Order: sequence, then structure tokens, then C-alpha cells
Amino acid sequence: MRGVSIFGATGSIGQNTIDLIKRAPDEYDVVALTGASNIAQLAADARTLNAQIAITADEAKLPALRAALDGSGIEAAAGAVAIEEAAHRPADWIMSAIVGAAGLAPGMAALTQGKTLALANKESLVCAGELLLQTARSHGAEILPVDSEHSAVFQALVGEPMEAVERIIITASGGAFRDWPIGDLAGATLDQASSHPNWDMGQRITIDSASMFNKAMEVIETREFFGVDPDMIEVLIHPQSMIHALVGFNDGALMAHVGPADMRHAIGYALHHPARRTLPVERLDLAAIGTFEFRAPDDIRWPALRIAREVMARGGLAGAVFNAAKETALDGFIAGHLKFTQMSDVVASTLEHMDASGGHIDATMTLDNVLHTDHLARQAAWQAIKTCQG
Ligand code: NAD
Ligand code: MG
Repeated sequence: MRGVSIFGATGSIGQNTIDLIKRAPDEYDVVALTGASNIAQLAADARTLNAQIAITADEAKLPALRAALDGSGIEAAAGAVAIEEAAHRPADWIMSAIVGAAGLAPGMAALTQGKTLALANKESLVCAGELLLQTARSHGAEILPVDSEHSAVFQALVGEPMEAVERIIITASGGAFRDWPIGDLAGATLDQASSHPNWDMGQRITIDSASMFNKAMEVIETREFFGVDPDMIEVLIHPQSMIHALVGFNDGALMAHVGPADMRHAIGYALHHPARRTLPVERLDLAAIGTFEFRAPDDIRWPALRIAREVMARGGLAGAVFNAAKETALDGFIAGHLKFTQMSDVVASTLEHMDASGGHIDATMTLDNVLHTDHLARQAAWQAIKTCQG
């Protein structure tokens, strides 16, 4: 039996992970499941999977979680510290699928076990890539990518020498607004930004796909994960979301990963790695699909891509500032304080402000410094939101 924990179990990635685990219940010993507001889902899954412990991020919801688990013998806990502690509970395979920088500390804790971390939480690599990788190295832990593009690159690289890699191309569907006139973007509503043409994901990443901040994060994630120069990473608009990434080699070959837009593929690959097992995903009928389309991305429509390049050039803790500003701008858009197009203004001005004040971007990359810089950047981003509101 493999010990398995799922951080962010109630979310889109968490539920897809649980779907796979439920199909082979005898193979897994479920240790910890975590969630935040959806107590009914968390408790139901903890009961079905007979987890050791269920934890909600929201301390006010602990009584409800206890009540929902009553009589099951499953432990209940609440709060960020309890989530981090649960990441120390022995498990062979740990899914990091909390959304946002809140996933960083539990991911770091999980790596100290020296086992496998399946990483969906790209924010932790953007905020503190070097720290995460260093922690993995020093504890002999393995990090496997779960983001579909990074899983695709990882698979295209199996057996290949890194020295032969010339470029890595990650694809982007273009999100909800890829065909909108640019002048209409400022008027985009929350509902419009929350519906993705191809993927069924959590609301935050769906809006980040429309703004291309998701792809901007993924460019940085690619740099961190595969250790390549930023100028070797390209973004390609591919509206069908079936080619997830391509790796270009020095002999001119491009190895493309083609698969359905179903996260259970990437999750399943990370769950069974290095084996491949049968997965319950669609088999693509390429003759029926007929054509694959590609376009170059447009920095005017999607300023996030340009900002990501600036963040990589700046280095240090710029990624932590970028992520915190992006999360805060997204909060501002969801709350109706910002227009869709103002999110990138807030991120750009927060980066400028943080660069000009206090040397926070040049601080050593420790977990404490990253969390402190994250906190300051969120404050600066709220100021920038107020300025945008006039
Ligand atoms: P989601 O919003 O559906 O779920 C997020 C999970 O995190 C939930 O379990 C929620 O309870 C928990 N959570 C939220 N705030 C928390 C906090 N402060 N502390 C602890 N837990 C908290 O998100 P998702 O779409 O499943 O995405 C999860 C992660 O996976 C993100 O980093 C996202 O970028 C990444 N990802 C998602 C997809 C996808 O298809 N959904 C694809 C690639 C990568
Ligand atoms: Mg992705």
C-alpha cells in the first residue's frame, strides 16, 4: 500500500486526483486530505477514502468538520499550521494542489520526507523555485510536474540528454478572450473571464488563463523546473489544447506531447511514474480533429507574458513579488475593484515599487524571506489597486 496525501483535495486538481485513487482503493493508504471552505466534500472524501486526518484551512470551520466526521475515527484539524504539520505525516506520494502561495510551506514540509511531491501548485515554484529544488535535493525527494505543459515536457525529455535541448515550447489555448477585439478587454466581466474554452479548472486559474498570467507563471515554472535559459522558452497559442508542449533538439527534431485536455492524464502520469498505467481519459481521434492551429502570442493583448520575462531577468525574489501581486490583482478583479486589463497594471507597478524600496527582491531566498516579501508585495499591490480606482 502506498501512503498518499492530497493538499487541496477539494479543488479541481484534488478531485481529479481522488477520482484516480478511488478507482484502485486497495493500492492506497490515504494519510491526509486538506481543504478550505467545502467541508461537506472534504468530510465525504475522508470517509470514502478512510483518511487518517482531514484538515480545513479555515479555523472557523473546525466544529463543522468535526461534526461531519463524527463516529468515523478520522482526525479533524484546522489552520495553516495544522496543514503544514500534516505535510510531515509519513506518505510516499504527496499531491500539492492548494491554490496560491499558501501551497509553498506545506510543499516545503512535504519535501523534507524525501519522498515524491506531485506539484500542481506552480505558485511555489514561481515564488521560491531554487529553495524548493534545493530542499528536494538535500532530502533526496523527487518533484514531479502536474501542470499539463510541464508534464508534457517531462515526458518528451525521457531518455534525452538535456545538453541537446535547444528550446522548450509550451502551448496556451489563449483562454476566454483570445479572439476578442483588444479594445473590448477592459469591459470583460467576471463571468466571461471565468469560463474556459477547453479546460474545466478552478476559477482562479481559469481567469489567469484569460489574462495569460497562468502562462506567464508557467514560463517561470519551466525555467525553474528544467533549469533552462529564459530565452529557450517559447509560448505558442494552440486553441485546441491538445499539444501541451514541444521540446526542440539540436538536430532539428521537435518532440510534441499530444493528449486530451484532461488533468487526470498529468496527475496519473505523476501517480504511476516511472510506469505508465491505463487511465480513464479520452483517446484522441486525430482524423476527426483534422487540423491543429498555431499562432504567435501577442504581448499587447497579454502583457503578462512580457512581465514574466522581466521577472526572470530581475531574478532574486522577483518571482515572489510577481506571484503575490498577481494573486492580489486577481482578488481585486474578482471583488469588482479592478477592470480585467488593470490586473497587469497592478502587477507591473507592484514590481516597480518593490524593486525601488528596501532591497526585498535581493534578500536571500529563505522561506521566511519569501513569505515576508509576499506579505509586503500584497500590501503594495492593494495600494496600487486603490490608485487604479482613483
Ligand atoms: P481550486 O481553486 O479548484 O482548488 C484549490 C484548493 O486549495 C482547494 O482544495 C481549496 O480548499 C484549497 N485552498 C484554497 N485556499 C487555501 C488556503 N489559503 N490554504 C489552504 N488551502 C487552500 O484550484 P485548482 O484549479 O485545483 O488549482 C490548484 C493548483 O493547481 C493551483 O496552483 C493551480 O495553478 C494548479 N493547476 C491547476 C490546474 C487545473 O486544471 N485546475 C492545472 C494546472 C495547474
Ligand atoms: Mg498548465
